[in-house]
Amino acid sequence: MESVIKLLPEFLANQIAAGEVVQRPESVVKELVENAIDAGANSVAVIVQQSGKTLIHVIDNGKGMSTDDLPLALKRHATSKIATVEDLHKIMTLGFRGEALASIAAVANIEIRTKQKQDSIGYRLVSEPLKSEILEPFQCDKGTQIIVKNLFYNVPARKKFLRSDLTEFRHISETMVKFALAHPTIRFTFSDNKTVIFDVKEQSLSERIRAITGAAIADNLHEIQFEKDGIKISGFAGSPSTAAHMRGNQYLFLNNRSIISRSLSFAISQIYEPYIDKSTYPFYLINITVNPETIDVNVHPQKHEVKFDNERAIFALLQEAVLKALNTAHSIPDLQQHQAIISQPFSTFGERGGIVNRITGEIISSDSSNNARQTNDYRQQSFGNQINNQQVKRPFTSHDLTAYEALFGKNEPAVSTTDSLFREEEQSLDIWQIHNSYIVHQTVSGLHIIDQYNAHLRLLYDEIMEKSDGREISQTLLFAVSLPLTQSELYIIEESEKEIKNLGFQFSIEKNTLILNAVPFSVKSGDEEKSFKELLSFLAEDMSSLELDVKRRIALAFARSNAVQSGNKLSKEEMKAIVHGIERLGKNPMSPNGKPIIISLTLEDLLRTFRT
Ligand code: ADP
Ligand code: MG
Repeated sequence: MESVIKLLPEFLANQIAAGEVVQRPESVVKELVENAIDAGANSVAVIVQQSGKTLIHVIDNGKGMSTDDLPLALKRHATSKIATVEDLHKIMTLGFRGEALASIAAVANIEIRTKQKQDSIGYRLVSEPLKSEILEPFQCDKGTQIIVKNLFYNVPARKKFLRSDLTEFRHISETMVKFALAHPTIRFTFSDNKTVIFDVKEQSLSERIRAITGAAIADNLHEIQFEKDGIKISGFAGSPSTAAHMRGNQYLFLNNRSIISRSLSFAISQIYEPYIDKSTYPFYLINITVNPETIDVNVHPQKHEVKFDNERAIFALLQEAVLKALNTAHSIPDLQQHQAIISQPFSTFGERGGIVNRITGEIISSDSSNNARQTNDYRQQSFGNQINNQQVKRPFTSHDLTAYEALFGKNEPAVSTTDSLFREEEQSLDIWQIHNSYIVHQTVSGLHIIDQYNAHLRLLYDEIMEKSDGREISQTLLFAVSLPLTQSELYIIEESEKEIKNLGFQFSIEKNTLILNAVPFSVKSGDEEKSFKELLSFLAEDMSSLELDVKRRIALAFARSNAVQSGNKLSKEEMKAIVHGIERLGKNPMSPNGKPIIISLTLEDLLRTFRT
């Protein structure tokens, strides 16, 4: 008998763990800054070179490490932050797994310099993968410096996967912004080689927001201060005027840790929903403080996601807190209406006037005959039990979200952006739109069902790919539009300026403001700003899995920002234009992101199904 199972050598185990913990230079920056904050530093400096690919240097003035602890720091599962299972259930530090430094040391060269307050001299530890470490006395300031060089040099596959310097830098920059906003009492200095990106001193949260995001946002904030049932919610909610096309300006922290939570983000966006354009995102920065025993931060390798014991309660409290902050802001008169909407959750929908509960997405009646009477009844009923109790009783799940979007988000008349894109076609064609999302038409041998979004995406994409010189397809604006840009947006433009201009956008950049002089013909008048901002927000998404070159990536992003969405009603002419456009593409056309466009059913298929 041959035994085949062996324990992996420690180094190999660390490299495997590194795959989860260290995905890109940004992950290293995040782990090192978390360690600096956990060490009690009130000043943290981060210097990167070549977007962290060649150097990441983090300097803190925290408590430092002793010589005994220093070599342990690089061992896997070595941590000073927890010791028992009970500790795991009440984590207040950002780190706790003892995995980060070991993982980084498996894929890069690390040097740690550290000195504790009481010691007269510090130490440094130099580590290189698969070599023995060097530990020696070293003269340095109190605190810790960690220098990471040549990230992934020994993992070529991972290195190849890294995006351009600008993209990697943007990830680091976004993470640094989150740290700066989550910890206003810490001074953060962030520089790229020799350029200082930001240097923010210890300050109040509102001063910090101003320093990082600028006056346009800082002048339009409403403070949130709320506490109930042991849950504290604090921070700032932006006025509806802060809503921008970029998703990035929304910060959610749980016990000062930046988290991603679909349901909590949804809770907040639902409060804003009546006041802002659907494709925009208002600024908010919200810190939720809960008893650490009621959450589990150990569910995601990079600790982005968290599990709550009482997510429903938090969902409702969060809505109450945001609503209260916005409602006490007298500067926003239309927020008076919000109370009415929340307290009157029932609304009619569709042509036949069905009734739906806007809060739960539940369809109460789809029958039109006694609809008026029922609406009144429900409203009266709702006043009694909802008006003094504004928060939503039942949280949305993703299922509810779909119902909600199906009912409200996509019930609008056709966006006329599409108008200019379609030529009128006079040929006769039996054609219908179902659920405002699919086009159905009869063919010689059966029928076609076309997904309107995928189809239009493909047509726009082809149109852009065929044209290369922006001038032919640009319309000059009578009045230039000026758009303030975030740092992230500036990076995106810098990275792809030529290709964006080739689409037909013409612009110049002055400081942080973009002056838009011309847009592609397919952009409808009045939508110039929206179209440009949406293009940037799609470009910000990681499309690396699609393996597209820059030109195709930009074409796809532009097509996505202008394609007719599911849920929009199309005119017969628009449907015909899509059908004729798609017919020219052959039998099984695909959308540029690889999704099918047509389902084709032949009479034979139907016969086979129904008669045999
Ligand atoms: P974790 O943060 O999960 O404990 P790490 O691998 O990130 O794991 O760090 C291991 C240990 O090294 C930490 O628990 C801490 O004791 C020590 N350490 C790391 N960075 C610092 C720092 N900047 N200052 C002081 N101690 C540090
Ligand atoms: Mg750590």
